Amino acid sequence: SGYHKVLEENRKLYNQVQDLKGNIRVYCRVRPFLPGQSSSMSTVGHIDDGNIMIITPSKYGKGHKSFSFNKVFGPFATQEEVFSDTQPLIRSVLDGYNVCIFAYGQTGAGKTYTMSGPNELTEESFGVNYRALNDLFHISKQRKDTFLPLLVNTLDIHNSSQKGLAVPNANLVPVTSTTEVVELMNIGQKNRAVSATAMNDRSSRSHSCLTIHVQGRELASGAVLRGCMHLVDLAGSERVNKSEAKGDRLKEAQHINKSLSALGDVISALAQKSSHIPYRNSKLTQLLQDSLGGQAKTLMFVHISPEADAISETLSTLKFAERVASVELGAAQVNK
Ligand code: ADP
Repeated sequence: SGYHKVLEENRKLYNQVQDLKGNIRVYCRVRPFLPGQSSSMSTVGHIDDGNIMIITPSKYGKGHKSFSFNKVFGPFATQEEVFSDTQPLIRSVLDGYNVCIFAYGQTGAGKTYTMSGPNELTEESFGVNYRALNDLFHISKQRKDTFLPLLVNTLDIHNSSQKGLAVPNANLVPVTSTTEVVELMNIGQKNRAVSATAMNDRSSRSHSCLTIHVQGRELASGAVLRGCMHLVDLAGSERVNKSEAKGDRLKEAQHINKSLSALGDVISALAQKSSHIPYRNSKLTQLLQDSLGGQAKTLMFVHISPEADAISETLSTLKFAERVASVELGAAQVNK
């Protein structure tokens, strides 16, 4: 009867909410040495499923330090392997969840590689963005409860601009097929190829955000199933060297660092179930507000470079990531 249907739906919703508590995952990915780099100087020691050991050179106090995450991908992990562990989260968008996936790390550590792929794309090297959209199409076509088109929006968030928050959905593009997605991604690739300097600027100064909206069938209660996913290639997390960056450049870099720590603060506050979540402290967190709450699932890909030169950024990146990951443990304990 109608009454039992409503009960059943309420029970499902209740279970969904229970599932979501403390739903923050952190995956670490180690970039391989690039052609021409000597691999004898690696700072990355043993890796197993969820642990990574970093070897610190004598200059930084010789020794080693271990970090634990939900998953660690070594330098030989393929794009397909990385995606297959991300896929369940992406699919949950079709069940009406809001999902946020971030790529975090210093410039050059592989964030864009994970999210978009390398400059010369082959089918094997497609990144999470492409694979996610492709997957969403595939399942939407099979299932009768979600509808095409998906609405897709790309946006660069520049924190240096003092203007108000950019309208996040101003450029929503309806897409109905993988072909259209490839075209959309190709446009992104062309824009990226414009100049190497522009690309460096992009990667160090702004957060690049791909948003996907999914609409589904009407539930018996009259509510419409809606899911939303943000795929965010964050600005480089490197700290600014004050002797090198001056004026506007320095200001910009400080804004970026501020927005990244604002993101960390929001995630901490959420996990501690704090009554005040400081979303308004940065444009990034303002934009993601609806996708970073109790009803949302969050995944952070933390990227590190294996070079000895990068050790100090590697350690601060992993410490930031551990702060985000510890949040999950905190929330899990509260639930028990
Ligand atoms: P970021 O976005 O963090 O600045 P990129 O994704 O641009 O870094 O990576 C820097 C360089 O390293 C690029 O040439 C990229 O193709 C390469 N690279 C990054 N990750 C990998 C990987 N997992 N396998 C092979 N090459 C990679």
